[in-house]
Amino acid sequence: MTRPDADVLIAGGGLAAQRCCETLRRQGFGGRIVVLCEEPTAPYDRPPLSKAVLSDERERRTPTLKPAEWYAEHGVELLLGVAARELDPARRLLTLRERRGTGAAGRLRYRELVIATGSRPRRLPGLELGGVAHELRTHADALALRAALRERDGRLAVLGAGLVGMEVAAAARGLGREVTLIEAAATPLARALPPALGYWIARLHREHGVEVRLASSVERVSLRGSTARLELSDGSTVDADTVLVAAGTAPATEWLATSGLGPGAIPTDAAGRTAHPGVYAAGDAARFPDPYLGERVPSQHWEAAVRQGTAVARAIVGLAPAEPVPPMFWSDQHGHRIQLVGHAPPDCEIELDGNPTAGSGQFAAWITRAGRPIGALLVDRPDALQHARQWIAAAHAGHTAQPTTANHRNTPAGPGPSDTRRAA
Ligand code: FAD
Repeated sequence: MTRPDADVLIAGGGLAAQRCCETLRRQGFGGRIVVLCEEPTAPYDRPPLSKAVLSDERERRTPTLKPAEWYAEHGVELLLGVAARELDPARRLLTLRERRGTGAAGRLRYRELVIATGSRPRRLPGLELGGVAHELRTHADALALRAALRERDGRLAVLGAGLVGMEVAAAARGLGREVTLIEAAATPLARALPPALGYWIARLHREHGVEVRLASSVERVSLRGSTARLELSDGSTVDADTVLVAAGTAPATEWLATSGLGPGAIPTDAAGRTAHPGVYAAGDAARFPDPYLGERVPSQHWEAAVRQGTAVARAIVGLAPAEPVPPMFWSDQHGHRIQLVGHAPPDCEIELDGNPTAGSGQFAAWITRAGRPIGALLVDRPDALQHARQWIAAAHAGHTAQPTTANHRNTPAGPGPSDTRRAA
């Protein structure tokens, strides 16, 4: 093979990429690392974009993961404003494009490639929302939304009651805005939570003055000056001067269409290896095996990006991935810290510890399927996180079900803790 331009080339400069670089250097990797960042900024953290960046008067800076000097000190080359355009896995060659240009910005040969391009907000085809429309993925999106929430009057309509939509609804209420949350499913977070828990979240928002419209979708839009009139499927209308489209995300892997990987989240093994030799994927763009579900799932959450970026770096230096732990995401809404550990499938049983309708709102919901622990929803119970993980992992230890294909080597789940306690 011709000498590569990069020993490790990372497409996408976000959380998974940064954790991959950090782990590589910590493990003593001495090769050349190059990171392609489509945005004009060094890797930064996205959770503050729907929280402090909107609600905190002073918080306008990009929440970078490391200061600029860190990359220089650790020999990590960031190519800012340069995107991956096409992959030729047989020749280990990546074609680049400038962010705003259409022409190619050159090609790079790699020894190992890490796909860490994250995800992008889904668009709602057919809805012309004009200048009132916002989406939220980048820091630039957050600053534009922040300005709209602070400088305009009138109602914010949020289309989609997923994590980002609900966090923005909460932040906007905190700023005194009128808010309508419109969700096509019967409950918020319908893909992550069963109806009983989704209703609790809807109720939380209603208690804080958010108008929650469930099982409703926007059928038509008419623009009247700086206001959008949204016609909903139930025949009602909502007038909004700011609209956030928060209808979920799709992996940013469209550029891989000709490579045999993508579009869609890229399936990997537990070390992040894809079906192509020398090509790894991590973070929102990847679909790692989840031993607790027995299938590969796109996780699209912060902690998964950290673990997966780390796992890929370990694989590159010849180390096995860390033992799996039940996945977790968190969300901050109306002053409450909400954490889902493991999974809450629709056919689960729920045992409550604490009263969700009590003033404090603090409770834990212990989730089982066919009698077996599989998840926990913790509301203002960070103290219970470790126990929840152990409870799920211990139950899983006797029931390991791993996806298998000829292309992927999976690491079996490790043993659970011995001191499992019955919850609730
Ligand atoms: P990203 O961090 O998105 O980084 C990918 C980078 O790749 C981006 O900078 C993108 O511009 C770049 N890119 C895309 N295409 C290309 C290309 N072709 N070439 C080069 N670069 C490219 N998770 C939680 O668990 N809790 C939360 O509270 C939470 N809050 C969130 C709030 C918001 C507003 C958002 C958007 C996400 C939130 N998340 C949260 C999810 C979490 O931030 C993501 O799961 C995590 O950032 C994924 O990391 P990543 O590295 O895969 O992708």
